[in-house]
Amino acid sequence: MIDGQTKLVGVIGWPVAHSLSPAMHNAAFEALGLNWRYVPLPVPPGQVEAAVRGLVALSFRGANVTVPHKRAVMPAVNALSPNARELGAVNTLVIGRNAEGRPTVGGYNTDDKGFVGALRRGGFEPEERGRAVVVGAGGAARAAVFGLLWSGIGGVTVLNRTLERAQTLVAELGRRPEEASRLRALPLTPETLIESARAADLLVNATPVGMWPHVEGSVWPAGVPVPAHLTVFDQVYNPLETRLLRQARKSGARAIDGLGMLVRQGALSFDMWTNQGLDVNEIAAWMRAACERALGRG
Ligand code: NAP
Repeated sequence: MIDGQTKLVGVIGWPVAHSLSPAMHNAAFEALGLNWRYVPLPVPPGQVEAAVRGLVALSFRGANVTVPHKRAVMPAVNALSPNARELGAVNTLVIGRNAEGRPTVGGYNTDDKGFVGALRRGGFEPEERGRAVVVGAGGAARAAVFGLLWSGIGGVTVLNRTLERAQTLVAELGRRPEEASRLRALPLTPETLIESARAADLLVNATPVGMWPHVEGSVWPAGVPVPAHLTVFDQVYNPLETRLLRQARKSGARAIDGLGMLVRQGALSFDMWTNQGLDVNEIAAWMRAACERALGRG
């Protein structure tokens, strides 16, 4: 029941009607007996700073931020977490009060930790001698590359259809020599993909290829076995079992779906807002069950 004590959070994006976040957060609030609600908040481009002022005025406790506002929201926050600053993207706002009782808006990013947490949960541990191939150079790829670098992986090759975008990502995340020496950018072709994957331990798809309704798409070439020693992580989660993950399983490779990343970034935001020391794995499990129901799998 919504009453005078109900605390509000939501997601600002454009569009947001398709977002699974309201279903997964509200399911977790209900399962954990918390009087909180999570609402979709459609915010047109150009309106994000006004929207953040509105959230503060309405006593929201925070919000998630999604496409296309993750960068545009940055000037509206009072303090940025180090990883949000380095990533150049905020996906979580936490609204609190300072010592004088004035509202403050903190900008955080949980996408990188959400990705690495899902990877570990799926059985892959990033190691110094490990090598990863990330396909794509957008926001999702950036979070994956950043998370992998900070969890200690030995090297990451970024393959992208538009080479300049991969080069920009590598230049921006490789500002310090210790990161630059572990990063390289290549154009995405079947040859570069197969060759890089053979020399790697992990392959990450961070493009929308294979996403509903184009479910027959895959970044991996048809008729070529996926190296069996690989772990394949597809950030696409609709469908849960993408063609890429089927190709991986058929070759004996380990396959991890993208829903784990979605629910872990959500569970980390949830934990920051509610700040009750709840188990993030438990929050993520409730969220995953809600998403599977929404995707027609539960
Ligand atoms: P984005 O910023 O628009 O970037 C899309 C990337 O995919 C670009 O590198 C683009 O290459 C590449 N791409 C698009 N279509 C392609 C094609 N047909 N062939 C090859 N490359 C193609 O998007 P994003 O925010 O990074 O999201 C990418 C995908 O990740 C989403 O569609 C979503 O499925 C998934 N995602 C999952 C989670 C999760 O929690 N699991 C979170 C965020 C995103 P160009 O640079 O050449 O255009």
